[in-house]
Amino acid sequence: PLILGVESSCDETGFGLVSDGVLLGQGLASSAAQHADFGGVVPEIAARAHLEAVVPTLRIALEDADVDLADISHVAVTSGPGLATAVHVGLAAAKSIAWALGKPLYGVHHLAGHAAADTLEHGPLPERSIVLIVSGGHTSLLAVGDLVRDPIEHLGDTLDDAAGEAFDKVSRLLGLGYPGGPAISRAAVDGDPTAFSFPRAMLRPRDAPFTFSFSGLKTAVARTVETLERAGQSVPVADIAASFEQAVVDVLVTKAIRAVRERNLDTLVIVGGVAANARLRAVARSTCEAAGIELRIPPPRLCTDNGAMIAAVGDLLVRSGAEPSGLGIAADPSAVLLGAQLPLPG
Ligand code: ATP
Ligand code: MG
Ligand code: FE
Repeated sequence: PLILGVESSCDETGFGLVSDGVLLGQGLASSAAQHADFGGVVPEIAARAHLEAVVPTLRIALEDADVDLADISHVAVTSGPGLATAVHVGLAAAKSIAWALGKPLYGVHHLAGHAAADTLEHGPLPERSIVLIVSGGHTSLLAVGDLVRDPIEHLGDTLDDAAGEAFDKVSRLLGLGYPGGPAISRAAVDGDPTAFSFPRAMLRPRDAPFTFSFSGLKTAVARTVETLERAGQSVPVADIAASFEQAVVDVLVTKAIRAVRERNLDTLVIVGGVAANARLRAVARSTCEAAGIELRIPPPRLCTDNGAMIAAVGDLLVRSGAEPSGLGIAADPSAVLLGAQLPLPG
């Protein structure tokens, strides 16, 4: 089987080609630069950019994998969650390709895609593991078994902002632009992570153990900036960026390791755009090493949105004998994480 994965849920247009768990090639386009002036993704602009990018990006993926369109045996596409206008473009493209080729189409859950991205680098997931999804729209701790067969157990989410959203908002208020994660990360390199002691929310014993909250942290950064500006002092952007980043990383790593311990598991998988963050990767690496926990994080290019991760889920679905979704599949912009496939087979 040769699975084409199609991703368009936010501002990345991605096509990936996967066969038997192996990534053969991919194409990726981003409209991030077009959203920079707005401080966040503008749905109509994203949709138009996807429409322009689909054919050239697919062509790049086919060339990268050195295969022809006619070699594709199955098509997998993100059907949710995501921006409705954006999801529709990838869905329409995937349906057209599947129909023209006469091949089955699978609707895939975007977050299952983020989790499956790791299998392209590190092979099949263990029988059971804790997956921390940290992305632009989600911050979730999950207990995961077989991505296709087993139900995914939700241990906790964020009460307010997602981790990536916090990066994007803090970046905006520091004047560093969109997307915020990479911008903050760059600024933080020269900063002192202990310069400001920003709040680590939900870490007290009486707090829900696997629940996150990042809006207080964002407000604390905003107040710090305001206070400095009102006093006519210059804003130490690098120190604030590093201290903010450290606060986010401390909370994420503490709670993720707590989940692994409580469930008596030995593997932690960190995925999603924020998993590209160098400080998170370094702290998770050293903490897991000390705790005897196996840590799996995909390489940065597979952490942020891409088509390969959607193809990876499609490949798992095909190999497990799952029923295709069919060409009538609709977008599910607010899909919750129930399983790898959308809609779930009835
Ligand atoms: P979701 O997957 O929840 O639907 P999304 O698809 O928009 O949301 P991703 O593409 O997985 O999210 O990740 C994008 C987010 O990751 C953005 O918020 C971005 O700021 C953040 N991000 C990207 N690179 C880094 C980095 N190096 N450090 C921290 N955050 C980062
Ligand atoms: Mg993006
Ligand atoms: Fe994503």
